[in-house]
Amino acid sequence: MATSTAAVAGAGIIGLATALTLADRGHRVTVHDPAPLTGATHHAGGMLAPTAEVVYKQDPLFPLMRAAGGWYPELVALAAKYSELPTGYRTNGTLVVARDRADKTHLDELKQYQAQHGMMAERLTTRAARALEPALSPTIAGAVRIDGDHQVQPRLFGRALFDACANAGVTFVREALADVNETDADQVVIAAGMGAKDIGGWFDGGNPLQLRPVYGDVLRLAVPPHQYPLVERVIRGFVEDRPVYVIPREDRTLTVGATSREDGRAAPQVQGVHQLLRDAIEIVPGLEECDLLEATAGARPGTPDDLPYLGRVSDRVVVSTGYFRHGILLASLAARCVGEIVDKREPSVDLEACDPMRHRRNR
Ligand SMILES: Cc1cc2nc3c(=O)[nH]c(=O)nc-3n(C[C@H](O)[C@H](O)[C@H](O)COP(=O)(O)OP(=O)(O)OC[C@H]3O[C@@H](n4cnc5c(N)ncnc54)[C@H](O)[C@@H]3O)c2cc1C
Repeated sequence: MATSTAAVAGAGIIGLATALTLADRGHRVTVHDPAPLTGATHHAGGMLAPTAEVVYKQDPLFPLMRAAGGWYPELVALAAKYSELPTGYRTNGTLVVARDRADKTHLDELKQYQAQHGMMAERLTTRAARALEPALSPTIAGAVRIDGDHQVQPRLFGRALFDACANAGVTFVREALADVNETDADQVVIAAGMGAKDIGGWFDGGNPLQLRPVYGDVLRLAVPPHQYPLVERVIRGFVEDRPVYVIPREDRTLTVGATSREDGRAAPQVQGVHQLLRDAIEIVPGLEECDLLEATAGARPGTPDDLPYLGRVSDRVVVSTGYFRHGILLASLAARCVGEIVDKREPSVDLEACDPMRHRRNR
């Protein structure tokens, strides 16, 4: 059993899942964060979608996403070992739908790409899709059914991980870590999302991480009792080429997201909210009758090649950030691999493409 001390900077899903994994492996863990669970994790949809997300065609990412999907039940079980709080983990599956014939080419491409990568997805007629989800518009042009793409409710799962960490003996310090030398822990894990680029003290040439915020507008709706449950599965749609998703939750709410913008504007944008509502209603017309509870925007921490920064950068420091649009899913992989790296073992997956030093300037 390992007995080192570990400091984790960041209490988003990545830092908390990692801290819990380290504590469970016998390390004495301290998590530093001035405002736990207020970053991207607070705003995320929570889709665990290795198959549906092949649409983004990032080949080096698929093996990581697939491995993360496979390990997710373990992470959920680890949280349940130390906390009774709910996680919103649901395995009802996902339907990807096309609004019209032009959008249907997306489904064809998606299906073809999924088949090439050995992923399980089934083409459905509109009638078959509506037999599964009667709230879908009769005018959709077809669907793909993906039973293996699941979801968690990130705010719930985050709170469950936080509680689990506390019960597993993790100590929390409600302050930022500006420099890795502010702690005397044997090992330091930089898991501070966007904030990771400002943490110093581990590389002579200055912090080499290049992170950019990719904002997404997200809505939370409540389904009125007479309509509940409006949908049972995650519905992902293409409307005039734009992606939109509707995620049903146990608490009778729906999350509708998400736009993608790099305009530096942290507040939800009227145009984004308008677009999301219009596109989501095109696919699930009954959404019109829901209550609008919340509009927020979060920043996905993106790297120049949209792959994470995950790996050891010195004898003492491990970097784990840049999870961009897949950080909820990749939390299971991040936690497991950082646990292995801290224990000086070979990570379970090949992380060469994720080298945190790969975008260092003036190499
Ligand atoms: C709109 C939207 C929808 C998304 N939907 C999905 C989805 O459906 N599925 C999916 O897999 N992913 C999704 N994502 C991506 C996912 O949310 C992120 O990749 C993930 O939350 C990143 O987690 P994190 O812990 O690295 O960062 P964060 O959640 O941002 O947490 C970072 C934490 O670090 C803290 N911090 C910052 N600086 C410091 C410091 N110096 N010292 C200590 N602590 C510090 C912050 O306070 C914060 O609590 C979505 C993101 C957005 C914005």
